[in-house]
Amino acid sequence: MSLIGALAYKAHFVDISGLVAAFVVGFTIWYTGGPASFVIILFFFMSAGLATKYKYKAKVKKNVAQEGMGKRSWVNVFGSGIIPMMFSMAMYIAAMVPELAGAGWPFFLFGGYVGAVATTSADTLASEVGVFSKSKPRLITNLRRKVPSGTIGAVSLLGEGVAIAAGLIIGVVAVVFAIFAPELIPGLVISESVIMWDYVLFLIPLSILTAFIGCNMDSLLGAVLQNRFVCEICGAVTDKEFHCDYETKYVGGFKKFTNMHVNLGSSGLGATLGIVLGAGLFVWILGGLFFWIAASSSN
Ligand SMILES: [Zn+2]
Repeated sequence: MSLIGALAYKAHFVDISGLVAAFVVGFTIWYTGGPASFVIILFFFMSAGLATKYKYKAKVKKNVAQEGMGKRSWVNVFGSGIIPMMFSMAMYIAAMVPELAGAGWPFFLFGGYVGAVATTSADTLASEVGVFSKSKPRLITNLRRKVPSGTIGAVSLLGEGVAIAAGLIIGVVAVVFAIFAPELIPGLVISESVIMWDYVLFLIPLSILTAFIGCNMDSLLGAVLQNRFVCEICGAVTDKEFHCDYETKYVGGFKKFTNMHVNLGSSGLGATLGIVLGAGLFVWILGGLFFWIAASSSN
């Protein structure tokens, strides 16, 4: 972790406060969620850092770059990491309580963890890469309206593709760990049984679905609730108080509702969806197994 931290700091992914926050989040997830959960959040951390740096100068020109040379501070790190961290801790607790572990809770919470990180990664990567969409993005609340890139709530095919790809990668990482090293995910071995294989593979569609839905929920929440300002020079609707070197004008949304609140809300939704999908499938497979046993015993 020290090595990763040093490299990330050197690459200007984070400032000092962001580095400390990343350590807190990373260590807690490593300790409670095990190496599998850690590798998943590490994918987010590294890919978000790289995507933010990707064509940074071009983004500055387009007025869509992250402030401070793209260095993330503790606010950003906790904003993206706090919900996964809570799920990781909940998984750890569920794995230690026999009643919860027996009922499959570590499974569901791992689904929630994967859902939260998939949503956050999809949202970050889609925003950082989606701004280079060749076709003009459209507003999620009115898909017929084309808007300048960087507009709050703007969506593009490129961004949606990136979101799905992020979900796929996280899902594959989760499945690889769950199949080849289940002991590295708290609570997974306790419930290991015939049904686990089917269940584990489901982590891929779970991750893709949560990434896609969570990322679009983020755009929707942003478009409806987030404080937004209009640039009187280029007409862009942004969350920045300065655009094209001039002060922007407040046009709508809740004044205290910033991008961080939107991110927290959408990663919470992604996590909830992850649990529901995970638990739903678990119940579905158990139900199928029950009928199969019932049917074969009646013969
Ligand atoms: Zn402007």
